[in-house]
Amino acid sequence: MRPADTPITRYGARRADLEAILGDWREPRFRAEQVWAGLYGARLPLDAITTLPRPLRDALAETLPEALHAATVLTAADEMTTKWLWRTRRDGTEVETVLMRSERRATACVSSQAGCAMGCTFCATGQAGLDRHLDTGEIVEQVLRAQHACPQRVSNVVFMGMGEPLANYGPVWAAIERLHGDLGLSARQITVSTVGVVPGMRRLATEALPVTLAVSLHAPDDALRSTLVPLNHRYPIAEVLDAAAEVAAANGRRVTFEYAVIHGVNDGLDHAGALGALLGAWPGVGGAHVNLIPLNPTTGFSGRAPSPARVRAFAERAARPGVTVTVRRNRGVDIDAACGQLRARARAETG
Ligand code: SF4
Repeated sequence: MRPADTPITRYGARRADLEAILGDWREPRFRAEQVWAGLYGARLPLDAITTLPRPLRDALAETLPEALHAATVLTAADEMTTKWLWRTRRDGTEVETVLMRSERRATACVSSQAGCAMGCTFCATGQAGLDRHLDTGEIVEQVLRAQHACPQRVSNVVFMGMGEPLANYGPVWAAIERLHGDLGLSARQITVSTVGVVPGMRRLATEALPVTLAVSLHAPDDALRSTLVPLNHRYPIAEVLDAAAEVAAANGRRVTFEYAVIHGVNDGLDHAGALGALLGAWPGVGGAHVNLIPLNPTTGFSGRAPSPARVRAFAERAARPGVTVTVRRNRGVDIDAACGQLRARARAETG
């Protein structure tokens, strides 16, 4: 059920909503299929669905407005990364989406909340707090609006933008079901990233769609992790790893562990060794994949990324049987592509 205070928007409308609107207008029955196939099958903007008469496109645009207004759009110098700062139609709150392209894939990194209540110390979004949860239409729309600007098919969606997706479980899961059912993304092309909301992880283990789970770990022990991720006080590492193993056992997918590498904080070879030992002993199906993310510069947090050589040494020390380690290239640093940074900058500029 849609919450009573949520207006129907273009991508929040379900097929039944569309059929009801077109029925009221006495349009032929095949129109609903045409609209649906255009919006989701061909992934076209409404205005580009030329099988629909112009007056009908205009009427639909008015009745089913987009939920997001593009306040800022930035494209990196290599044109492979684009970032949007959206203002929502509902209340003007701001959210971000990033599109990352390569020859093989195009990935939309979407926000699940406006802001975030988790308060991770190194994260621009966490510093600003939570405005509100996004609704399903606002999440689905981020993917489609990114698609409209993308010359190739958006093949992957990652819930790694603003917000903690498992703290907004219902709308996020409904969006995943629509990305799968309406846009035809396979579950394995959808990644849900959590900072360790254990009840949400356990719920994920019961779902039929085997989405990929990414866990933001950032430290190999509770004392250090609690200084970076306050939620660790509530759900310590052992519980988070336990829930991650439950998800892996349920869906057979390898879990990724994200590790933001911060110079002088969590980047020592002792940390690397402890991380390797921790995950080497983790019983999850398929072993652990560690993704090292050299910290993106963030206003309000003095930490910085270690040198590439130090990150490489960290990766070598952490790797072992059952633990593969990769280093993620920071993309779009020139356009503030890390989570929450564009919004933080916009807020600073508007005072
Ligand atoms: S890192 Fe993720 S979970 Fe932590 S504050 Fe930022 S958006 Fe929230």
